[in-house]
Amino acid sequence: MGNSMAEHARCNDRDYVAMATAANGQIRALAVVNTGIVEEVRTRHQMLPVASAALGRTMAATAMLGAMLKDEEKVTVQIIGDGPLEHIVADADAKGNLRGYVQNPNVHVPSNPQGKLDVKAAVGRGHLWVIRDLGLKEPYRGGVPLISGEIAEDFASYFFRSEQTPSAVALGVLVERDYSVRAAGGLILQLLPGANEGIAIMLEHMLEDLPAISSIIDEGASPEDIICHAVDDLEPKYLGQLPLRFACTCSRERCEATLIALGAVELEDMIKEQGEAELICHFCKERYIFDKEELEAIKDQILLQSARSDQD
Ligand SMILES: [Zn+2]
Repeated sequence: MGNSMAEHARCNDRDYVAMATAANGQIRALAVVNTGIVEEVRTRHQMLPVASAALGRTMAATAMLGAMLKDEEKVTVQIIGDGPLEHIVADADAKGNLRGYVQNPNVHVPSNPQGKLDVKAAVGRGHLWVIRDLGLKEPYRGGVPLISGEIAEDFASYFFRSEQTPSAVALGVLVERDYSVRAAGGLILQLLPGANEGIAIMLEHMLEDLPAISSIIDEGASPEDIICHAVDDLEPKYLGQLPLRFACTCSRERCEATLIALGAVELEDMIKEQGEAELICHFCKERYIFDKEELEAIKDQILLQSARSDQD
């Protein structure tokens, strides 16, 4: 499993999360650049600009949620709206692995009155869910109704309502004319317990004077530069970096398990009707083909197993 993960992993030096505290530990700051990973996903899924913007924003926030985890913990974000994108899914973990997809990558919606990609119209109304797998029996799941559909405000609402943590969130993606992703990233500022009221009021206004995240990144800003832009006058202390990579957990073995779960009868039909099976991963679009002989072998394995369990 470890090997197959590495096969689908892509690294680049620019994509990482930076973590800091500011105002003597009263504020937690995280910033991310994920341009390379969003571009990787864009080419794999042939995404049109509004899908790249919506997924890129979601993946930026998810990467920062991942950076707040530890060890083997994982996080999944689902944004399920009634707009044409339908649902957006992103996964991250504490090790910097990041992946995601949108249900309908080919959606086109007209620009909004400001001439920008209309993410709100593409997402629609619905919910944002955060599912944290902390290695316990049940994953922790929290969600909020979407208040904007532009995604950053929706994450801020999630942090406040579901985690009781006042937060300011900025997310942005810049798409080129040729649809390639030019810049993507984000910033989360959170009030830590014990913060005084003055800092709490400041937090609400901290993003107001901040230029668009995607344009700062486009000018070459690193995650630390983004934090510096936002909280420079509050003496940020940098705690570390989490390098990100596009990585998927799919593998031939997992596909085989899916085929085994179908059962012998279904496989027999598949062999007769199609002569092969093609499985495509939702997340990374990797194609797995099983030819007739391989399907026969899987079928025999199922029959053998069921014969064994009959004997027990
Ligand atoms: Zn995959």
